[in-house]
Parts: sequence; C-alpha cells; structure tokens
Amino acid sequence: MKKVPIALVLDDPAPGISVYYTHHNKTVTEDGRPLLEYNPNSTLFEFCDIIEKYGIKGKFSVVPMPGNRGDVVHGIEGFSKKDFDEWITTVQSRVMPAFSVGPEMLTHNYAVDIPSGKIIEINECTWASDKDRSVLTPYITKAFSLLKEAGFNSRGCTSPWSFGIEVEDEYVQAVSQSVFDVYKDNNCWYYLRGLRNVPNAKPWVEYDDGKRCVVSIPATTHDYIWQTIDTTDSSQEFISSVADRYITANGKGGDIVKVLETGGYPLFITHWQSLISNGLCTGMKVLELIAQRIEKHLSNRVEWYSYEDIMNLVLSNKDNYPKPNF
Ligand SMILES: [Zn+2]
Repeated sequence: MKKVPIALVLDDPAPGISVYYTHHNKTVTEDGRPLLEYNPNSTLFEFCDIIEKYGIKGKFSVVPMPGNRGDVVHGIEGFSKKDFDEWITTVQSRVMPAFSVGPEMLTHNYAVDIPSGKIIEINECTWASDKDRSVLTPYITKAFSLLKEAGFNSRGCTSPWSFGIEVEDEYVQAVSQSVFDVYKDNNCWYYLRGLRNVPNAKPWVEYDDGKRCVVSIPATTHDYIWQTIDTTDSSQEFISSVADRYITANGKGGDIVKVLETGGYPLFITHWQSLISNGLCTGMKVLELIAQRIEKHLSNRVEWYSYEDIMNLVLSNKDNYPKPNF
C-alpha cells in the first residue's frame, strides 16, 4: 500500500523577534509571566535537532518583515547581526532541506504601504480583506522578493491569520503572479484553510488554467501545543497529554490517527511560539514525543512530505484532488 503524506505545518518563525509578542495585545502570558519578546537561536537549534533525528518534513514560515521590526535581508531591531546571520544560515542549512520555506506575508503585524515603505496602522489581515490582485500582488511580491534576497528558495506562502480569505480568488491570482515574477515558476502552493473534523481532508487544486496552477494545502488538525505558552507545567504527564491530542501512546487515538482513518492527510499545525512555550520549550518536547509515536506506530502507513512535495504530488494527478465543499 502506498504511504500517505504527513507534514508538520509550522507558522510564525522569524529571526529573533517573536511575532506573537509584537501583535499580541498583552505583554504577559495567561498565567501572568512576562511574554518573551525575543527567542534565542538555541530554540532553533533544538528544533533542528528534532527534525533531523526523526526525518520530519513540512512547511516552515519565515516572516519577511517580522513585527515591523526590520527584515530578513537587513536585520532585526534588538537582535545582534551575528545572531541574525546565524538564524538565517541555520534555517537554510538545516530546515530548508526538509521543509518548504515560505513567507507568511510581510509583517504578521501592521500592513506596509509598498511604494513608500510606511506602516499602515491596520493589521495586514484586516487590510487585505477588501483588496484586489492589483494591490495584493506587489505586497506578496515584496514578501517573496525579501526571502529570495535572503537566500531562500520558495514556491508558496502562508496567510497570517486568515489573510485573503474574503477575497480568495484575487489572493490566489496574486500569489501565482508573485511566485512567477520572483521565481519564474508557473506552479505554487498556499496555506490558508483548515480542514478539521472532515473526512478525506486533503489538498486540492484551487486554480488551473492549463499553464498556471495553484494548490491549496490546508492544515488538518488544531494547534494543541499552543497551551504550553501559558503554563509552567513541563511535567512528563502534561507533555504526554498534549501529544495525545495528535497521537496517543498506543497509536490508536488522536487527530493524526483520526485524519488517517477518514482517508485524509495528517497535516498537523503548530506555531513557533507554541514550540518555544515562552522560553520553556515544553512544546519541543511535545513535538519530539509526537514524532516518536509516529515512528513507532505509523511508519508503515505515512511518509514525511514537505509542502512542495505535496504540491508536486497533487500536480502529478490533479483529478484526484478536487476542491472540497466547505
Ligand atoms: Zn501566523
């Protein structure tokens, strides 16, 4: 039997600065501790150790102008040049071989006026909600261009929040045009939608005109690791209970198993801040336990894919991937 694609869907990584901190309207966790503004590179190294050990693949966002605090080419305010360079080269040498790296639009915070570079004091998801391709294309092209200039090879992007959902047809055209303009590729992917608790949850061909093609790749679970941000509990019991939501210790329960049983692809989402757990990295331990359980119970049923691998799988047999009814 052919193995089913599985992928880790990772939102919000950026060099140094936490985009969760910059767009969150509080500076403390739910249990009252100061929220970390910056993440040390040790968190990235810990993540790389885990993905390399277990062969994990998937999607890894790099926010190009994270929190309106600089950009991935010129550096980040409050984060040393040495650490910045180390973050970028580590993602390139240790993450990019296994993960599709793509922008999560420009800032994950306030929108930017592209011609002037000035901040528009509206979050970019709200800003995008009534725009058409003529406005969205330069915005998304800027995101891909910054990643390209920083040395990232990219064929797709992630919506910060639900960026573009109100104008999805325009958004899809803008993504396609941007990938073509920056990388000269007719094919691209994007991640905007969640397909949760629906049978047969798979990616689909969102647009195809015979030349250009856009594949929509959803997440098919919730981010249960998020809760590790707001607690100091890092006990083995807690770690195991969070991992259970994805896959239980006996390999028979959890969303990853449920998605598989209903014919879908387990594309399980978490966030950079979820893995870092406000400095405790409890989420990294959860991720490692999930990977161990997948290896133990599902290695004959699933195979790790990057988002670009999934895009190519869909393109190789488009008829098998029709657009679902939401
Ligand atoms: Zn995000």
